[in-house]
Amino acid sequence: MSTFSAPKGTYDLIPPESETFLAVREAIAAPLRRAGYGYIETPGFEHTELFARGVGESTDIVTKEMYTLTTKGGTELALRPEGTASVLRAALQRNLHRGALPVKLWYSGSYYRYERPQAGRYRHFSQVGAEALGAEDPALDAELIILAVDAYRSLGLRNFRLLLNSLGDRECRPVYRAVLQDFLRGLDLDEETRRRIDINPLRVLDDKREEVQKQLDGAPMMRDHLCDACREYHEQVRSLLTAAGVEFTDDPKLVRGLDYYTRTTFEFVHDGLGSQSAVGGGGRYDGLSEMIGGPALPSVGWALGVDRTVLALKAEGVETEVPARTEVFAVPLGEEARRALFSVVTELRRAGVAADFAFGGKGMKNAMKSANRSGARYAVVAGERDLAEGQVQLKDLDSGDQNPVALESVVTTIKEKLQ
Ligand code: ATP
Ligand code: MG
Repeated sequence: MSTFSAPKGTYDLIPPESETFLAVREAIAAPLRRAGYGYIETPGFEHTELFARGVGESTDIVTKEMYTLTTKGGTELALRPEGTASVLRAALQRNLHRGALPVKLWYSGSYYRYERPQAGRYRHFSQVGAEALGAEDPALDAELIILAVDAYRSLGLRNFRLLLNSLGDRECRPVYRAVLQDFLRGLDLDEETRRRIDINPLRVLDDKREEVQKQLDGAPMMRDHLCDACREYHEQVRSLLTAAGVEFTDDPKLVRGLDYYTRTTFEFVHDGLGSQSAVGGGGRYDGLSEMIGGPALPSVGWALGVDRTVLALKAEGVETEVPARTEVFAVPLGEEARRALFSVVTELRRAGVAADFAFGGKGMKNAMKSANRSGARYAVVAGERDLAEGQVQLKDLDSGDQNPVALESVVTTIKEKLQ
């Protein structure tokens, strides 16, 4: 071990598990690409104010979880805690909203939150996200949810559930908010929670504590206060999902952590993850653009947690396919053979064959050990005498059979045998 270890709440991705991470990212991206989502990449940090406004001053993310810094020039920056505000900021800055709508984008990257580290909850984690900007259409909400479900299914994940709710819009939400506040003020709650009633009463519904939850029986629910437009919109989302064979559970208490959600709100939970059960979530955010100084731009999106999806796969015992392992391993004996086989390895790789080489001038025994450990099907072995005869030895590592092959045709021979 060196003097240093990774900071608290972070971990390194190393082979072979790192392959599962790549497989998950790719599996989530594939359905998005097929549905016309374009790839976007934004900086790892933004002006702190973007998140304060775009995620919400009353959220845990902004009040407790952001990594902020002041630059030497006095600029207040924050490591991104989530993706939506950045993507919307970039789309507005680059005028994407003036073109054809909706603008459909996907992203993948690292996010940072100063949280109490525990299983499935880290200070540095990975998300793949998707946003569809500039259209108010229940089919768009349904599309995104279906794409996430298809991604999980393509990975072989089975025991996940979709929770669905509507949070209303700027017509009906304020009315409901006031009704809920009246109800909550009559409860026996601690000081901090009472403050939350004033700034973000919906979040109280999401309180995980038993003593709070048991007082919430009979609390007014958004679904009983939706205006006609929101009710109709939500019914359409529900029926499109059903038609697509996507099962869901209506969860009237699902509010999610971000202030900006309107109407459709959803979360994917997995039952094999203990208390960190959310593998992904999202919703509609019709007011967000205006909150960060843009025009009205009704939008919907989600973010799926890569780390927790990997844990969910592990919990279900699902193996993801590991791409391209070494097929051929070259074992040279002596300097001349080193040069010759190094060329063979380069040629094999250029011909599309996964090949590796006994680096570090190992003796025969250690080099053959490396060959076996690499999982290769064939070893190409050569010493001075083979080269003098213009040949190499091709060893089948499964059967142990070994045969001489002409040096000049070894690449074609191997390609044929591998087919
Ligand atoms: P939670 O309720 O678990 O705190 P969240 O509502 O804060 O989740 P989102 O902001 O919706 O999470 O992020 C989307 C997904 O990103 C989550 O469903 C989860 O899978 C993942 N995620 C969020 N925070 C973390 C974290 N600290 N470590 C690992 N994954 C995370
Ligand atoms: Mg959180």
